[in-house]
Amino acid sequence: MLGLMQNWQLTVDRILQHAAEWHADREIVTRSVEGPIVRTTYGQVHERARRLSNALLAFGVKPGDRVATLAWNSGRHVEAWYAAMGIGAVCHTLNPRLFAEQLCYIINHAEDRIIFTDLTFLPVLLANRDKMPTVETFVVMTDAEHMAGIDFPGALCFETLIEQHSSDVVWGGFDENTACGLCYTSGTTGNPKGVLYSHRSNFLHTLTTLQSDVMGLSAQDVILPVVPMFHANAWGIAFSAPAVGAKLVMPGAKMDGASIHELLETEGVTFSAAVPTVWQMLQQHLEATNGKLTTLKRVVIGGSAAPEAIVRAFRDNYGVDVTHAWGMTETSPLGTQSTPNAAVAALPYEQQLPYRLKQGRAPLGVQLKLTNDADEVLPKDGKTFGRLKISGPFIVREYFRGDGGAILDAEGFFDTGDVSTIDEHGFMQITDRSKDVIKSGGEWISSIEIENIAAGHPKSALAAVIGVHHPKWDERPLLLVKLKAGQTATREEYLAFLEGKIAKWWTPDDVVFVDDIPLGATGKIDKKVIRQQFEHYVLPTAQAAE
Ligand code: ADP
Repeated sequence: MLGLMQNWQLTVDRILQHAAEWHADREIVTRSVEGPIVRTTYGQVHERARRLSNALLAFGVKPGDRVATLAWNSGRHVEAWYAAMGIGAVCHTLNPRLFAEQLCYIINHAEDRIIFTDLTFLPVLLANRDKMPTVETFVVMTDAEHMAGIDFPGALCFETLIEQHSSDVVWGGFDENTACGLCYTSGTTGNPKGVLYSHRSNFLHTLTTLQSDVMGLSAQDVILPVVPMFHANAWGIAFSAPAVGAKLVMPGAKMDGASIHELLETEGVTFSAAVPTVWQMLQQHLEATNGKLTTLKRVVIGGSAAPEAIVRAFRDNYGVDVTHAWGMTETSPLGTQSTPNAAVAALPYEQQLPYRLKQGRAPLGVQLKLTNDADEVLPKDGKTFGRLKISGPFIVREYFRGDGGAILDAEGFFDTGDVSTIDEHGFMQITDRSKDVIKSGGEWISSIEIENIAAGHPKSALAAVIGVHHPKWDERPLLLVKLKAGQTATREEYLAFLEGKIAKWWTPDDVVFVDDIPLGATGKIDKKVIRQQFEHYVLPTAQAAE
């Protein structure tokens, strides 16, 4: 027997529609690429996005066609998203941090027809225009005045299109499983792969992020997403802020400590989300200028592990509660968040901290399990680590165009490529990437754990650990250290520093001091490059074993 409730399709156009009806005057404030701070409202954004939908229809955009954006976080970017999604087109967020070659690859793979771009990215588009034959129209997200100053034959002006079209358009009315957004993984291994979100998955992800144990957003919040809309959908904030009628503050292209601090204070921001490096830059700025945070209450850190020093500093010096979140493009992206449960909340703060520094608990809608190489499920004891697998209605089922083949296990779980533990309270902790974990004599060694400790040595600027071939143990850890300017150190000094902090058999077989440690497109240590550099490295212990 079927239920008798209304069959309301969960399409994201309803989110902006809701904001326009109930929170019409709530502001979206942008530090524009052109310079000035620009103010608009949900009412205006809704009206303008609908006009833009008519512009897309006039270009011949049909349901399912890909409409790309190459843009910073801004009110206009939000308009472009909803304009495309509202009429059933797919909004493809392009990551400007990709190399031009990868950018062209994903534009071609997606067969984007339209690209909405900020002024910032005109040079890269112009230089590569011949390499993106499917793109018919470039829309520059600026006004007529700035348009006059650019040299991009055939490009159209965003504000002119909005002026030219009416807002009389039909939004939604299609199946909630219709594709809505497309975002490619960064492609640190092989070509980038497309994750194709549906209206339903985005809608459900929005509801999940609103839970108070997740982001817990409300109509009273003022939210500054530093995390870009092109990187895993700004963790869903362009949906969750209008869903509750929170004010949105968009940083545009400026994400340095001083610019972010200025916006936090002048706009009365209460909630923000960003990767650790952003908070590090902000902290340095606050320390250097004796700055204060008078309105900020909560921040979410994710994308890579939150350093303890940041979590402590924001709480102790500025009264800001920091929670740690984990996720990936494939998970929409929010998978876990480290908000305390009742048992953890009852502990003194110092004892809560180890839990808060883990990547967190699964909200309703996310299922997690740990498995070993034989696909056996491992215990949630906080010690045993294995492959982290995930399932749920906003987790990837298959990549766009079938890339990578079948990606789910027999129980329908997606292998995240992360290695982690889950403790008795349900807090998951990442211990490594599965391709980086060091397999020594059949046991796993966490490269991240060793490098985090080594990075904490006062002389270290950066540290990385990789597995290097060993004739007896298969692989053994090699520690690379980039020292701070002017420092010198010895192998023995570092090994002594690690002693007692890790299991003895985890001790690196060698320490090498390097001038630089390569970083990838998202600012993370690029182990693929390091492994290539040290492909033929012979450990001193390997010689002894032979
Ligand atoms: P990329 O950063 O490679 O572009 P994603 O944004 O999808 O792609 O990154 C997802 C990966 O980032 C996760 O699988 C995990 O390895 C890492 N990650 C995300 N959040 C955290 C976190 N809080 N702590 C540690 N690693 C994290």
